[in-house]
Formats: sequence, structure tokens, C-alpha cells
Amino acid sequence: MGIQATRGTRDILPEEIGNWQQIEAIARETLARAAYQEIRTPIFEQTDLFERGIGETTDVVGKEMYTFKDRGDRAITLRPEGTAGVVRSYIEHGMQAQGGVARLWYTGAMFRYERPQAGRQRQFHQLGVEVLGSGDVRADAEVIAIATDILQSIGLKNLTLQLNSIGNADDRQNYRTALIEFLTPHKEKLDPDSQTRLTKNPLRILDSKDAQTQAILENAPSILDYLSSESKQRFDRVQALLQDLGIPCNINARLVRGLDYYTHTVFEIQSDDLGAQATVCAGGRYDGLVAQLGGADTPAVGWAMGLERLVILLQQIQQTRQSLNAKRGASIDFYVVSRGEKAEGQALRLAQSLRRVGFATELDMSGSAFGKQFKRADRSGAAACLILGDTEAENGTVQIKWLKTGEQSAIVQSELLSNVDQLRQQLIDER
Ligand code: ATP
Ligand code: MG
Repeated sequence: MGIQATRGTRDILPEEIGNWQQIEAIARETLARAAYQEIRTPIFEQTDLFERGIGETTDVVGKEMYTFKDRGDRAITLRPEGTAGVVRSYIEHGMQAQGGVARLWYTGAMFRYERPQAGRQRQFHQLGVEVLGSGDVRADAEVIAIATDILQSIGLKNLTLQLNSIGNADDRQNYRTALIEFLTPHKEKLDPDSQTRLTKNPLRILDSKDAQTQAILENAPSILDYLSSESKQRFDRVQALLQDLGIPCNINARLVRGLDYYTHTVFEIQSDDLGAQATVCAGGRYDGLVAQLGGADTPAVGWAMGLERLVILLQQIQQTRQSLNAKRGASIDFYVVSRGEKAEGQALRLAQSLRRVGFATELDMSGSAFGKQFKRADRSGAAACLILGDTEAENGTVQIKWLKTGEQSAIVQSELLSNVDQLRQQLIDER
């Protein structure tokens, strides 16, 4: 057998590319209207950037990075996410010095060594936004609203926004102490990863997918009880803004980011239609990250979407639509059948004229007997079949057969398109 694509990677084939382009086009347009600018950063960076920018106690840095030494003995990592590179670039190019708020977006391939399954790959694609330089609650609401707009324009349904606040560093320190105090007596019953995290990064335990750990967490203290009045007020304002925008949300006190530079708002958008890999968009505020990576103190907020998961959802919608269309017989307008040299030439010309004025038209090019062509016309889902034989070719007419009623009549070819609006209306009536 020949060489196959590496485990966890996939080709995006020509028949799928339309969905990718559609999603990218919708995002591009939505982001342009909101004055976000695209940025493209390198696919690999110094390993150190991700260790500092994502955090050594995270799964991503701890076990998922593609890290290697290049021929000059530099420690290099294929980017596992987009934020660290964008922030590095923001600092390196002094975007902060230009004043004001930088609204950036990116898309591209990301790399993580994970167990591949539906919606989870080793090379996958994200599209993300970062708003750097605004600590305003409106920035939190704006990025969430834009994510919602993009997902809605793609046509996705059954999405829920999960929202939480993890407060400021002091709030989190207090919560951390309370959580350790609560979990320590249960330590033996936690899953092994969570046991390690108990001292290193206890907030991440809330993320555990282990059932027994989750059962223990039922009675754990809630971060929302540890927010200072200032943090709480901020969280209330974010919720009020979202309500104003008509964006419903579920408050989920279990939703966290385990690292010190994350602050206040965290959120995820989940789909009911994806099974285990349900999160299509995840983000939050990270007021400490720019400083952590060597820049000046800069508040920031952003999110990333997983494009493979969006493509899966878009395909599901199309499949439902196609099976509905097949039942309704509504996918194309005309199916053109013909036989005999002269008729076949005219059929092609007629199909082209119909297409040019906007009718979806399929031309049967088999040259087979009329009977076989009619069967294909019936299966095509067209509203009408156009028939050209020797007689029609001789006198410049065409038979039009409405497939729902079976009604058939002859019309002069040049007259078929003499009143396009009327023909369009007739197609609607005959469906
Ligand atoms: P998960 O809990 O699914 O592993 P995560 O917290 O690691 O997600 P983020 O780092 O927040 O994910 O990435 C944002 C989004 O990117 C995810 O919500 C998901 O849609 C997508 N994503 C993350 N990892 C993968 C992957 N390996 N394959 C495909 N999509 C992914
Ligand atoms: Mg992950």
C-alpha cells in the first residue's frame, strides 16, 4: 500500500472545500464589518513562547505539543493555538505604541498530539479573534456577539453559550485555597491527572472528564462565591450587555481557565449536535498575558473556533436539507433531455441560456434512449423536463413537461425565455 496521510491529519478534498470557503467567507465578512484586521503569524515559534504563553501545567504544553530541535539546535514548536503568536507579534511590532485598541483575527492550521476522533485531530484549523488594549466590558460582549453572528450566519442551530467569571488574581487565590481544602480529603478518589493538579493547578480539576471526579465536584465550592464585589459587578455588566444584545447564556461556574493571566470572563459555545466534542468556540479575557510575554500591561480578550467542528455541523445541515429537497423534489429547476445530433446541439444552447438567467439546469448528456433519460429526469428533483427530439429541432420548439402534474406542452424555444419572471413564477407554482 502507498503512503497514507499521517494519523490525526486529513486531506480536505475538492468536494468539501466549498464548505470551508463558505465558513471562511462568512467569518471574513463579519469581522471586516466589525473593523477587525487579519494577521498571519508563523506556523512554528520558539518553544519557550508557548511554555510561557499557554502555561506548563496545561495539557497542551504538558503533553500535546509537536516540539523538536531544528538543525541549528533551536527548540521549535508547531503552534498548538493562535493567541501566543499573535501576542508575540503585537509586542514585537509595537502595536501597543500605536495607541488605541488592536482588533485582530487569524485563521490557520494548529497542531496538537491528541487521540484522534471525530472533531479532534492532530492537525486541525482554528479561526480566532484577539482584542488587545481594551479592558472595557463592551469588548467582552463584542467578541461574544461576533462569534454568535458568525455561527448564526453559517446557519448553525442548537448552540448554547456557557458563561462564567473567574475574577481577578486575588479572587482566584482565595478560591484556589478553598478548592484545595475541599478536595484534599477526597484526594485518593480523584483521577490520577486531577491528583497531580491538586497542588499544581487545582482549578483545572473542574475540567476533568472523569465521572468519579465530577461526582466529587458536585459539592465543591463555586468560584462565583469568591468574586470580589468589583469582579462581581463586572460580571453582572457583561451579562446585562449580552441580554441587551439578545444573546442568551447559561452561567456555568465550572467553566475555568487555570492560569494566572486569565481574568474575569470565560465562555464556551457548545453544540447539541456534536456528541463528545461539543465545544465549537472557546475564549475569555486574559489581562495578564501580554505582560507575561514581556509586553506592557495590556488588557485583552479573545476566542478561537474549531473549524473542523463547524464543517461537520454544516455538513449535517446540508444532509438534512438534501433529504428534504429529495422528498420535495426541489433541488433543480430544469432537466434537459435530447436525442439526435441537431437536437443535442440545441439542448446545450438552451441549457446555457437558462443558466445565464439564473435557472438551475441539468443537461443529460448520455445520448441514451428517451426512456432512460426520462427516468433520470424524474429522479433529478427538477420541476420540469425540457424535451428536444428531431421534430422539435426541425421547427425550433421544445416540449416542456411539468414533472409533478405530468402536464406537457410545446413552446417555441425563443419564447421560453421571453418572460423570465413569468417562468420563474410558474416554477414556484408547479413545485
Ligand atoms: P477540548 O476540551 O475539546 O480539547 P480545548 O479546551 O483544548 O478543547 P481550545 O484550546 O480552547 O480547546 O481551542 C478552541 C477550539 O478549538 C475548541 O473549542 C475546538 O473547537 C477546537 N479544537 C481544539 N483542539 C482541537 C483538535 N485537536 N481538533 C479539532 N479541533 C480542536
Ligand atoms: Mg484540548
